[in-house]
Amino acid sequence: MSTWTGYSKRSGDVTDADYMARALFHAARGRGRTTPNPVVGAVIVSADGVVVGEGFHARAGAPHAEVNALDMAGPKARGATLYCSLEPCCHTGRTGPCVARIADAGITRVVAAVQDPNPLVRGRGFAFLESRGITVDVGTGRAAAALLNQPFFTLMNEGRPFVTLKAAISADGYITEAPGQRTALTSDAANRHAQRIRAEIDSIGVGVGTILADDPLLTARGAYRELPLIRVIFDRHLRTPPEARVLSTVEAGPVMILTLAEAAERADRRQPLEARGATIVVTDGTIRSGLRALGDRSVTSLLLEGGARVHEAAWMERVVDYVRLYATPKSLGPQGLKFLNGRRFLAAELIEPRVESLGPDVMTEGYVHGPS
Ligand SMILES: [Zn+2]
Repeated sequence: MSTWTGYSKRSGDVTDADYMARALFHAARGRGRTTPNPVVGAVIVSADGVVVGEGFHARAGAPHAEVNALDMAGPKARGATLYCSLEPCCHTGRTGPCVARIADAGITRVVAAVQDPNPLVRGRGFAFLESRGITVDVGTGRAAAALLNQPFFTLMNEGRPFVTLKAAISADGYITEAPGQRTALTSDAANRHAQRIRAEIDSIGVGVGTILADDPLLTARGAYRELPLIRVIFDRHLRTPPEARVLSTVEAGPVMILTLAEAAERADRRQPLEARGATIVVTDGTIRSGLRALGDRSVTSLLLEGGARVHEAAWMERVVDYVRLYATPKSLGPQGLKFLNGRRFLAAELIEPRVESLGPDVMTEGYVHGPS
């Protein structure tokens, strides 16, 4: 009897890692849709090696992956093993604790990739299962599972969103032709790639300089997106014009302007922005303080698109987790602004780097300090 097709191993060789890979596949189906929850996948395998249930978490408020898999398995869950990409929950949220459902269904072994970093869970789910006589094995597929939920892990462990720094850089190392000037650098292929990235993130951030120079919409265009995209403007002195185009699209997602207390106290600046739907948030002016404010609102990821000052500040404050650079063959000449004061990123300087050709441009991305 074989439970796999198109698989070179004999069925007797199917291992925990194989079933976990299937649970991770299901988890990934929720990408970009579950925030602020993690993506989770679950597979239930009977004692004789048949997959009797599988499921994933589709969106916050919907049933958890384990519950979907248990519903599919029904009575076949008795005596079976549950493979789960994340520790099953033990807190009563909107959907009730999964661990009680798992034990009541008669599951005898749980294989989980990684412990849930949520302080409400953090090992308590495993402890509950063991207290009900269930064998618990943790760690199969751990690296892949943590990678899949990197934004959720960063929010839980550090109280701030996972930060990706994105920039387009000319052949001679510039990001604009001249300070304060809008410069279209990248090809259609690179622009489409950037839009697809916007479809999966919680929030996108720019400095007020970019608002003044480019007047961008900061929406995800041409990419499927289920949840509103939060737009964040780092604007210490509230210089964002009330007529900025980003404020014409508040129905596509909230616009948060992070500013200093003295600017927020100026009603002549604050009120016209609030009248256009902006949310004014007071910070101490650092990127880190802005990130904490976003973390307090359960924002799990931030794509920092520029400009030069915001990139530089985030880099100097050491809050950049991931870098994605689009290198173009165009040259811009010496009046422009250099990316991070002329710093060059080579793929070899990044951790787990990836390089991809996008038309005439080359995208290089990778972790700055390694996935946690
Ligand atoms: Zn659960």
